[in-house]
Amino acid sequence: MTLAPAPAFAAPKEEPVDCEQVKCIALTFDDGPSKYAGTLLDTLKKHDAKATFFLEGQYVKSRPQYVKRMVAEGHELGNHSYSHPDFTKSDAATIKSEIQKTQDAVKKAAGVEPRLLRPPYGLADLQVSDIAAEFGMPIILWTAGSKDWSTKDVDAIQKQTLAVAEPNGIILMHDWVKQTVDGMASLIKTLKNKGYHLVTVSDVIKSQELKPGDAFPTPEGWES
Ligand SMILES: [Zn+2]
Repeated sequence: MTLAPAPAFAAPKEEPVDCEQVKCIALTFDDGPSKYAGTLLDTLKKHDAKATFFLEGQYVKSRPQYVKRMVAEGHELGNHSYSHPDFTKSDAATIKSEIQKTQDAVKKAAGVEPRLLRPPYGLADLQVSDIAAEFGMPIILWTAGSKDWSTKDVDAIQKQTLAVAEPNGIILMHDWVKQTVDGMASLIKTLKNKGYHLVTVSDVIKSQELKPGDAFPTPEGWES
């Protein structure tokens, strides 16, 4: 019998979360990284919560340091276009360029490439699905929104998010809404008190076995 030698420098391994066994929720932040991203990352780190950032390439380019931190601190990155056009009103060449430029900007900033696509406004059609498939990405929408962009109120954002929170939910938020970032510590504590593990999108969609080009949750009118 031979024993495999223990690796000399074993990286500290985080216990994987099984979202089929425990209550999980994925907070997602669109359109960033915003100027508040550093504060948000501090809060997530302090409360040991993971999140997913659907990044806009133009801000990846202007604030690469936050993108680097997101990866280093265990968050997941998604592609949210370069300059936020409506993909359902764009031609194929524009969509491909918007996605590729953002992949390149993230790679340059943090050495990784996003593997999830969230089209601007969550709007997708067959053409968007085909292009997502070419990039090897599923399309990730959300199960519910925090409505943070419209209320811009710490209490209202918290109340709405708690009202729509559900196991394996994917919650739409925005890190450019200052009140979302201001209220994050309190929101995380409350979600944890309700038994939620704050995880990435890939954690909550694991059991869906999505293929590139698939959209989740399935948009209304799409055949599943
Ligand atoms: Zn957006």
